[in-house]
Amino acid sequence: MKIALVDVDSKIPNLALMKISAYHKSLGDTVEFHDPLSGDKPDLIYASKVFDFTPDYNYYPPDVPIIKGGTGYNIHSVLSPEIESCYPDYDLYQCDYAIGFTTRGCIRKCPFCIVPKKEGYIKVVGDIYDFWNGHKHLMLLDNNLTALPEHFELICKQLIKEKIKVDFSQGLDIRLITPEMAQLLAKVKLWKQIHFAWDDIRIEKAVRRGIEILTSNGVKPYKLMFYVLIGFNSTPEEDLYRVETLRGLGVDPFVMPYNKSDEYQRRFARWVNHKAIFKTVKWEDYVAHYKDTTTTETQSVIYAKEERIVERLDG
Ligand code: SF4
Repeated sequence: MKIALVDVDSKIPNLALMKISAYHKSLGDTVEFHDPLSGDKPDLIYASKVFDFTPDYNYYPPDVPIIKGGTGYNIHSVLSPEIESCYPDYDLYQCDYAIGFTTRGCIRKCPFCIVPKKEGYIKVVGDIYDFWNGHKHLMLLDNNLTALPEHFELICKQLIKEKIKVDFSQGLDIRLITPEMAQLLAKVKLWKQIHFAWDDIRIEKAVRRGIEILTSNGVKPYKLMFYVLIGFNSTPEEDLYRVETLRGLGVDPFVMPYNKSDEYQRRFARWVNHKAIFKTVKWEDYVAHYKDTTTTETQSVIYAKEERIVERLDG
């Protein structure tokens, strides 16, 4: 059989497509990305879409069966057990790092998050050896590894033993960090900073406690980064308080705007996330720059001014 794959909108190598590719290659099928200009007619197409806000792919050949999957089409779509259990075909994307889940789901039900609706309560689905085979780097997609302390220990010990540089790409839960976890994290080789989140102003005590546990057990503060959700259920004052508190604790805030088209959210995120600006310009000075101009200038002119500020600071 000739299998064609369509990756509608992935920002990283698409794990589902890599498993589908591996499965069909194991059956002796040919697998390649769909090329609408080639004139080839595949026997079956798989299309994967991650985001619900991206446009669909529109270049399907007529009369070919299509299997569409991924959160962008249907949050409840899953791979068949035979495909899910395949070792990913990393060659599909010339991907030189390992990528995968060892758990699915989460213990929490944050109102802005799709994970509880999509994957339900947390459960173990495997370990790193299901998708790692000698790679120097590994991207873990687990949503809340810290919610299962014994499994967290197992995964960290595997990473330490194999000397793998890891990216806990979906973040860890600062509220659940224990001294034992912090000691393991201090030994794990990191590919990226360890991500946490401070989305709700009310968990300040837990954030301070978690940072204290991490740093007193050997994790350097500069290795810690906190996502700060804004525009969902917080005021601008609370947003500023959270990022300044994190700065004061020596860790990096990274702002996630809930609505990227909102001017305040976009600008606040730009101020925090561009480290050269955040380190040298106070928020009140950053916004003061626009106060007298917003009524007379178009948004595009203001954006261009922001770009120039960034260029000056970079230079
Ligand atoms: S802790 Fe993270 S993964 Fe779990 S529901 Fe909240 S945002 Fe989603």
